[in-house]
Amino acid sequence: MPAKKSPSRPSARELLFGDLWEFDPAPESAPASIDDRYGLFIGGKMVAPKSKKYFDSISPRDGKKLSEIAQANAADVDAAYQAAAHAFKSWSKLPGKERGKYLFRIARLLQDRSREFAVAETLDGGKPIRESRDFDLPMAAAHFFYHAGWADKLDYVAPGRSLAPLGVIGQVIPWNFPLLMLAWKIAPALATGNTVVLKPAETTSVTAMKFASILTDAGLPPGVVNIVTGAGETGAAVVNHPLAAKIAFTGSTEVGRIIQRALATTDKRLTLELGGKAANIVFEDAPLDQAVEGIVNGIFFNQGHVCCAGSRLLVQESIATEILARLKRRIAVLRVGDPLDKNTDIGAINSKEQLTRIQQLVQSGVDEGAEIHQPACKLPKSGFYFPPTVFSNVTQSQRIANEEIFGPVLSILTFRTPEEAIEKANNTPYGLSAGVWTDKGSRILMMASKLKAGVVWANTYNKFDPSSPFGGYKESGFGREGGKHGLLDYASLQ
Ligand code: NAD
Ligand code: MN
Repeated sequence: MPAKKSPSRPSARELLFGDLWEFDPAPESAPASIDDRYGLFIGGKMVAPKSKKYFDSISPRDGKKLSEIAQANAADVDAAYQAAAHAFKSWSKLPGKERGKYLFRIARLLQDRSREFAVAETLDGGKPIRESRDFDLPMAAAHFFYHAGWADKLDYVAPGRSLAPLGVIGQVIPWNFPLLMLAWKIAPALATGNTVVLKPAETTSVTAMKFASILTDAGLPPGVVNIVTGAGETGAAVVNHPLAAKIAFTGSTEVGRIIQRALATTDKRLTLELGGKAANIVFEDAPLDQAVEGIVNGIFFNQGHVCCAGSRLLVQESIATEILARLKRRIAVLRVGDPLDKNTDIGAINSKEQLTRIQQLVQSGVDEGAEIHQPACKLPKSGFYFPPTVFSNVTQSQRIANEEIFGPVLSILTFRTPEEAIEKANNTPYGLSAGVWTDKGSRILMMASKLKAGVVWANTYNKFDPSSPFGGYKESGFGREGGKHGLLDYASLQ
């Protein structure tokens, strides 16, 4: 994408809140190769939707149309399932070593085209190019590499037992890490010998459709992976199709509930990865500068569109004033703006709807008496943007302390004793992740054993690895993705 000089595009100086630093604009220039219109990927071919309907995909960077996406109806979803069921017959019988070769090829092809995909991901979803380039793409490739390694070693996942595939897996994913969530879903399903019907989120379907070309280049047999696009209705058709042996869903707790209810009367397996309201807990003996970096990474990574975001900061009372002062200084130098600029820390909010939701929740925080802190940054005039926001004086009853905001908004609460920290941290219907910052190793172990969260990070935050299982407790869902646990969720033990 060449750097366009348009009057609506702010200069680097405008993007800064003041004259503290001056950066030249550093826009990424690799071509994103995005088609004007995408069909559906069914049976190894790009096909037009039977529905004959398409909808616009908007780039949150500037609010302009990026591409047209097919709106799959029930007949389209059925065609995808038929193709997947047909492909399952031979794919499931292929030796693991052969399946692994395809996964390796997919991983290598993703690496080859990683710059192109990173630009497309940023244009489509709004995340900073630095993140799509350095996190989303390498992690997506890593998931295929990791699972390629398992494909011929399934007899060693659960010693003495072997793993059998389940059949056709229906997968529905969200918009915050479009390609990475696709990788989390497709790689383990294929490694264990299943075939797939996947639906990306309606605001971020572009990289999934581009990924179809990687599958073709990898020579993956037709029908092993099918990709259908559309919104909630298409997702419901994927979930409710009779040929699905299992549904894997990542998204909101609200939709997760609908899906669980719908599957309750069937024998389909289900894993749900839903929302979160993670506590990031900082004790007075923590190294404060590192903690502040961890807090910033915990909540402002990917504009806060992260299910495991450290959105509730619990600070020990003795250091609360100091932490707030340091945080305010730190967020004043975060660079908000054009996600294609390599210097940008906080890019665009994924959609207009999400921006509205964030604005409403922030307003509720102000109305309910929390104290708001926002740096005076200038936001681009077109596109969807929101400044990094910190709330202090937050009480447990306020909406901003309880509801998932899914935006660059941090709520600070305080505590006095470790017991109080645990009680407050666990006082949520969610249980996806948590962070602990302290110099004391024994306290880390004590906290990790008492926090009801699927992942607990210690003196770091938002660290991921394909070998490390990820998933939640309570209303954050069930099932694990990554590691051996993730493989077991795609197989039956024999
Ligand atoms: P959502 O749950 O509505 O969408 C997630 C996916 O589910 C999308 O692909 C969507 O098309 C599909 N879907 C919607 N309705 C469906 C239905 N009835 N049956 C089957 N599939 C359906 O999430 P959203 O509206 O995009 O985001 C709303 C909230 O969800 C966010 O504010 C955040 O709290 C949460 N969220 C969580 C994650 C996560 O990683 N856990 C990711 C995105 C959003
Ligand atoms: Mn989009």
